[in-house]
Amino acid sequence: MTKCEYMNDTIYVIGHKSPDLDSVVAAITYAILKNKLEGTDRYIPAVAGEINKVTEFVLEKYGFEKLKVLDSAENKAFILVDHNEKSQRLKENENTLIMEIVDHHKLNFSYSEPIPVLIKAWGSTNSIIYKEYKNNNIEIDKNLAGLMLSAILDDTVITKSPTCTDFDKEIIEELAKLAGVDNWQEYGMEMFKVKSSISEMSAEEIIKLDYKNFEFEQGKIGAGQVEVVDLKEVENKYDELLVEMKKIQEAGKYHSIVLMITDIIKEGSVVLVVTNDQEKMEKALENKLVDGQVYIEGLLSRKKQLTPNLTEVFD
Ligand code: MN
Ligand code: MN
Repeated sequence: MTKCEYMNDTIYVIGHKSPDLDSVVAAITYAILKNKLEGTDRYIPAVAGEINKVTEFVLEKYGFEKLKVLDSAENKAFILVDHNEKSQRLKENENTLIMEIVDHHKLNFSYSEPIPVLIKAWGSTNSIIYKEYKNNNIEIDKNLAGLMLSAILDDTVITKSPTCTDFDKEIIEELAKLAGVDNWQEYGMEMFKVKSSISEMSAEEIIKLDYKNFEFEQGKIGAGQVEVVDLKEVENKYDELLVEMKKIQEAGKYHSIVLMITDIIKEGSVVLVVTNDQEKMEKALENKLVDGQVYIEGLLSRKKQLTPNLTEVFD
C-alpha cells in the first residue's frame, strides 16, 4: 500500500523510543492539531515505550490521559514527531507508512515517497508545533499551554541548553501566560526535581531513562542522559552505572556506551564511558577519561554538543 491509498484509517502520531516529555507531548499536541485542521479523529497520539516520571507528573498535572503504548510499527501508519532516525523508531515492515515528520533533530531519513517534513533547529518539537497552532489560528487552552510549556522547559533545560533559541524563549513567555504559570523558572525547577529523583532507581533504569542509539560507521553507540539538580545525588552510583553500562555494551554489541549526567545548576556534565576505543572517545569528548569518567564544564546537550562530536570521530 502506498501513502495515497491510505485514506480512512488511524494514523498514529508518535515520538521516539525511550520517550521523553517533548516526544510524548508532541504526539498529543500534534494529533490534536491535525484532527482539528482536518475535522477528523483519525490522528491518535501514541508512545513507543513506557513514559518517564516527569512525563507522568506533567500529564497528570494538566489532566491528560496516558497514551497507548505501541511495541511495533508493523502494518500501521505514522506521523513521526521529535525523531526521524530508524534506530529511534519501532520495528517496521513493508506495510509501515510514514506520512509526515515534525522534528528538531538532524535528518537521517530516506523514504520511497515524498512526504511533508517540518524541521527547525529550535529547542523543542513543541515550539515548532506551537507555531503551527498560531499559524493556523487554532486556540490553545490553559491545559494544552501548560503541557507545551512543560515540554519546552524540559527539552531546553529551562532555557539553559545551547539548543535553546530566542524563538523558544519567546514561546515560553507566551505559553506561561496562557497556562497561568507566573514563574516558569520556578516551575521548571520543580519539574527537574521530579525528574532527578533518581536515588531509588536501579543503574539500568537510570541509564535507560533517556537513552538513544546511534549507528555510526565504526559501530553502534548508545548515549543516555540524566539531568540532576545536584551531582551529589548520584556520584556514589558511578561505579555501579559503569558496571551496568559494560553489561549493556556486551549484550548489545555496542562500540561504546556514553552516559551524560548533567548538573543543570552547575551547567556541566559528568560523562561516564565504556568503549572499545578510549583514544578516539577522548578525542570526541575533547577530554581525558579517568576510570571511564570525566566532568566537562558547559556540556549540557547531547544533541548539539555530544552527538556532533561523536559523528565527527566515529562516522
Ligand atoms: Mn526527545
Ligand atoms: Mn525534543
